Parts: sequence; structure tokens; C-alpha cells
Amino acid sequence: MFGTRKTWDLGDAPCLQELWKKDLSLDASSVDFLMSDGEDEVSFLSLPASGFSPCPSLTPDFSEAHLPSQQLLIQTLQEKVCEIQARLHSEERARQLQLQRLQQSHEQSVLENTSIIRTLQEELLSSQPSAAAEPQEERQPPKPTETQPSGPEREQLIAQLHTQVEELEVKLLDQTQEVGRLRSELGATDLEKHLELLVVENERLKQELKACRTSAAPPPAPPAASACPACPHGQDAEALRGEVSRWEGQARQRERRLAEVERELLQSHAQRAELQAALEQGHAQLDESRRRRGDAEQRLGLRLQECEEELARQAAAPAPVKYVTQTVEVENAQTGRALAEARAQSGALTEQLLVQRQLLRELETQLHESQRSCTQLRTQILVYEGEMERAQGQLEVEMQSLEEEKNRVIEEAFVRAESEMKAVHENLAGVRINLLTLQPALRTLTCDYNLLKRQVQEFPYMLDKAIGEAKQEICQVINEVSAANQELLRKYKREMNLRKKCHNELVRLKGNIRVFCRVRPVSHEEHVSGAESRNMVSFDADDDAVLCLSNKGKTMTFDLDKVFPPQATQEEVFQEVQSLVTSCIDGFNVCIFAYGQTGSGKTYTMEGAGKNPGINQRALRLLFSEVMEKKPDWDYRITVSMVEIYNETLRNLLGDNPSEKLDIKMNPDGSGQLYVPGLTRITVQCPEDINR
Ligand code: ADP
Ligand code: MG
Repeated sequence: MFGTRKTWDLGDAPCLQELWKKDLSLDASSVDFLMSDGEDEVSFLSLPASGFSPCPSLTPDFSEAHLPSQQLLIQTLQEKVCEIQARLHSEERARQLQLQRLQQSHEQSVLENTSIIRTLQEELLSSQPSAAAEPQEERQPPKPTETQPSGPEREQLIAQLHTQVEELEVKLLDQTQEVGRLRSELGATDLEKHLELLVVENERLKQELKACRTSAAPPPAPPAASACPACPHGQDAEALRGEVSRWEGQARQRERRLAEVERELLQSHAQRAELQAALEQGHAQLDESRRRRGDAEQRLGLRLQECEEELARQAAAPAPVKYVTQTVEVENAQTGRALAEARAQSGALTEQLLVQRQLLRELETQLHESQRSCTQLRTQILVYEGEMERAQGQLEVEMQSLEEEKNRVIEEAFVRAESEMKAVHENLAGVRINLLTLQPALRTLTCDYNLLKRQVQEFPYMLDKAIGEAKQEICQVINEVSAANQELLRKYKREMNLRKKCHNELVRLKGNIRVFCRVRPVSHEEHVSGAESRNMVSFDADDDAVLCLSNKGKTMTFDLDKVFPPQATQEEVFQEVQSLVTSCIDGFNVCIFAYGQTGSGKTYTMEGAGKNPGINQRALRLLFSEVMEKKPDWDYRITVSMVEIYNETLRNLLGDNPSEKLDIKMNPDGSGQLYVPGLTRITVQCPEDINR
């Protein structure tokens, strides 16, 4: 039972390390950790790290999980964590109780050892004279039944503790596996499915938009539009194209809106990813705290084992006393020294007891620290839960609003596209009907156009032909007119000759020389000076060609061509000579001259006065008016010359030399007419030229 006897040397730490390495199969790092004084910050109870290894499928897309299931999972996990913590707490308390019991038993064993030592010392002191046979019985006092009743009990306790620790580890492993399974089944898979659903829905929306765009694309232009640009089909087609382009613009706007919605969706995904990262961080911290707790638990277990081992060592401690006792038996002279050594060992054991107490206090401190850390971790878990709930609420609201916006936009676009397509179809039907009704008119127009085209092509020939015919007709008419003109001219000449003949006959009948008499009114002076003159001239009321003149009681009667009384006007006198002017135009020679004494009224009758002109002015006006009337057909040239015969002298009044004398001679052409050589003739165009 005490064969493996080892001596405690607390001042030699490397020996202790080697001992632990050998007995507990620990590696160097674990031994270094165990040698620490317990003030290290990692001295927490922790679960085995392998049990909580993070599942790789949990990392991506955790934020897009189905939120209620995620929340339920988190709640379940939290409940399990609380359960484990409570279990750990109870187990720690049990271990503390066990440690207290161990401590009590250890103290009891120490007391017993001390009492045994004292008993031995007393026996030694009492049996100093004869100590030969008793020691064999005295060796038994460290009775196993009394000193070692704690040995099997400790082993039993240690075995129980080991069993409990193993059970706990197994439970933790099961819990960890269950948590991983729940995460893989509910969390990430649902999130990925939801994300895939969103992507599929997005693709479907894009295809719907594309289909709407292709269905709203402009129909092919009717060929008739290009064939006849002036017909109304082209205008309809243009209007339809404009409408289609407008719809295309609206479709582009909707596409942009959809892109914005997609962008907002991506932003929400990014926010979800951030929240997921924060969640993962919280889980990592949770795992870290669990790991630390497992480590602390393991450390406590090791400490417990260490205490148990130490207790076992202490249980085996009485052996040196036995050895000393035997030595005392062999060498009675050295009993006192052995007793002193035993006392020293007893002191050392007391010191070890103190050390164990100190160790126990440290363990208690660590336990408190682990409890405090547990509380902090719970607080952190609560904080994370609050953040997660808030993030989940935001995500739900954003997802709902995005979903509503997406549905609304899609519905609006669909309704608009449907109505616009309906309008387009209606317009298309109207255009088709117009096309059907306009086709006969188009055929008629085409026939007319072809006919007109042929006529236009034949027009130059017809024009030439018509021009030729017109020329022939014109020539024929000209010939006819010319012939008629010749005939008219001939007739005119004949008529003129006849008229001339008649005129000559008239002149012959009337006389070539006609004498008229005009009696001027009696002037005021004549009326005052001679009363008898009042009745000297008298007229015949029945014959305007008779003039009676009374002189010295005798009355003489004169027969003339015409007698103008004093009241006769200038117009009446001119009417009597007017026909002579016409004869002049016809080519006859006419001469009108006035004869009478001075003051008898020659100038008045021939020239007139002011606004009452005489024969000259009136004859010239009539002459020019007759010439103007015959102007297109006849060309007349009128010349004026003036001569004065005074004292048998003929003078050229329009000539440059007034003193030049002229002669009256017979015309050499044999016509018997008189003419004045060198007489100035001036061509005139109007009566004003003559007066000038
Ligand atoms: P003559 O030329 O013969 O010498 P005029 O012609 O000078 O005469 O006439 C002399 C005057 O008598 C003028 O004052 C003229 O106005 C006037 N006289 C002449 N004839 C008429 C008449 N028929 N009526 C009115 N007055 C006349
Ligand atoms: Mg005169």
C-alpha cells in the first residue's frame, strides 16, 4: 500500500513538475499553467474546445436567415447555455463541498497523525528502558483503520468526481453537437434558401421586364407607308412610332426604378451581412467564454486531482515516522534525534497543511471570479440578444417595405404595359381597317396616276400637233382677214371715190364759193352817236339768206348763202363751216377768209375772244380730233404756214426774215393749184402748237 513512497519537496518545483508529468500524463504547457499562482486571467471554467468547434456552414449568410426560426434557435441556445451554467454552478458547489470535506478529512488525518506521533513519542519516552519487543506491535499504531479510513473514501470520491466530470464532458459534447446540428438545419440553410428565392424572383422580374419591352416594341412599318408617303397610313404609322418610343421611354424609366430597388435590396443585404458579422462575433465571444469556462473547469478538475494526490501523499506520509521509529528501535541512543526529526516532519506537514489551505482559498477566489465572469457573460448575452432583436426588427421592416415596394412597382408596370398594349392593339386594328378601306381608293388613284402619266408623256406631241394646227388655222385666218382687208380697202377706196364724187357734185351744186354775212351787234358808241343807224340793216324772217340795207331812204336787198344776225353765236357760225373741215381731211382744198371794213368783226368771227373762240380755233380742234379718231388706220401730217398780204406785198409771218418777199405761183404738178415757194411750213401735233 505504501510501496511507492515519494518525498514532498515543495521548494523544488522542477521535481514537482516531473512528478505531475509522470503521474498525470500532462504536457509542458499544462504543467506551466498549473504552476501558475491562479492569478492568470484565463483561470475560468471552460468547456472542451473540441466540443464547441464552430460549424463552417454557419459562417455565410447568417443574416438572411428566417428571423423567427433564428430567434427561436438563439433562445433555445441561450436556455441551454443557462442550463449548462446552472449545472456547472451546482457541480462547482458540489466540488466545493467535496473539497471542504476533503479538507476536513485531511485536517482530521493530520490531527490523527499528530496524535499518533505524540503517542509514539510518549511511548518512546515511557519505553526508553525496554524497547525491544514492543516496537513490533507499536509499529501498528498508525492503524490503517483509524488513519486510513479516509484512503478508500478519497479514492471513492475521486472516482465519483472523475465519473461526474466525464459525464459532464459527454453531456457538453452532446449539447455542442446538437447546437451545431440545429444551426446547420435551421440557420444558414434557411438564409441561403431565402437568398436564393430572392435571386430567382429578381431574375423573374428582369425577364418580365424584358418581355414587356419586347411586346411594347414598335411593329414593323407597313410597306404602303413607304409606297405612298402622302396617304394617311404614313401619318398613322408615324404617330404609332412616336407612341411606341414614348412607351419605350417609360419602360426605361421602370427599368431604372427596378435597378434602384435592386440596389436598395443589395444595400439591405450588405446591412444584413454586417448584422450577421456582429452576430457571429457575439457567438464567437460566447464560444470563447464557454471555452474559457471549460478550461477553468478542467483546471479546477486538475486542481482537485492535485489536491487528491496531495492528500494521498499525505496519507502515505506516516511511513518516514515508521522508519524513524524502526531506526529508534535499532539505535536507542539516537531516539531523541529521531524524535526531533519527526517533530520537524510534523512541522513540515503543518506547513503543507497551511499551503493546502492557501491553495484552497485561491481555488475559492477562482470560483468567485468564474462566477463573476459568468454573470458578465450573461449580461453580454442579454445585450447581444437585444441587439439581435433590434436588428431582426429592422430587417423585418426593411424586408417588408422592400417587398411591398417591389410588388407595387411590378404591379404598376404590369398594369401600365397592359393598358398601353391594349391601346396599341386598338390603334393597330384601326390602322388595318383604314388600310383595307383605302386600298380600293389607292388602286383608283394608281390608275388615274398612270393615265395622267401617259397623258403627260403624250403631251409634247399633242402640244406640237395643236400648235401646228393653230398655226395653220391662224395662217388661214390671216389669209382670210388679209383677203377681207383687201376687199374692204378696195370697197373703201371705192366708197371714198364715190364720196369724193358726191362731194364734188355737192360742191358743184352748192357752189365752190359760198358767201356768208354776219352782222355784229351795234356797239355802245354807235348806239349813242347815230340813232338812224339803228334801222339800217334788217333781216327777212322767212329767209336767212336775205339781208336788207336801208341807206338814204333806199332799201337794197342782198341774197347771200347765209346771213347771221347779231345774236348769232360763234358755235352757230362754225356749224355752217364744219363740213368744210371734214372735206379738208378727205383731201379737198378749203379756204375760209373774212372780208369787211375795220371794226366790222372779222377778227372776232375768225379768232374769237378768250373763252369764246372763233372759226379758226374750232376748226383746228375738229381737225385734230378727226385725225386722232382715224389714227390707227390713217396717218396724217398737219403743217401750218402763215402769210400776210399787205399793200400788195406777201410776207412770210413764220419765217426767219420778215422782210423777205414771197411770190404766188402756179403749182408745177399740173393740178392748177397755186403755191408760194419758200413759204415756211411747221408741223404741229395739237392746237396748242398752232397757237404758240
Ligand atoms: P375788224 O377786225 O373787222 O376790224 P373787230 O373784229 O375788231 O373788227 O370788231 C370790232 C369790234 O366790234 C370789236 O370790239 C368786237 O368785239 C366787236 N364785235 C364785232 N363783231 C361782234 C359780234 N358779232 N358780237 C359782238 N361784238 C362784236
Ligand atoms: Mg381785225
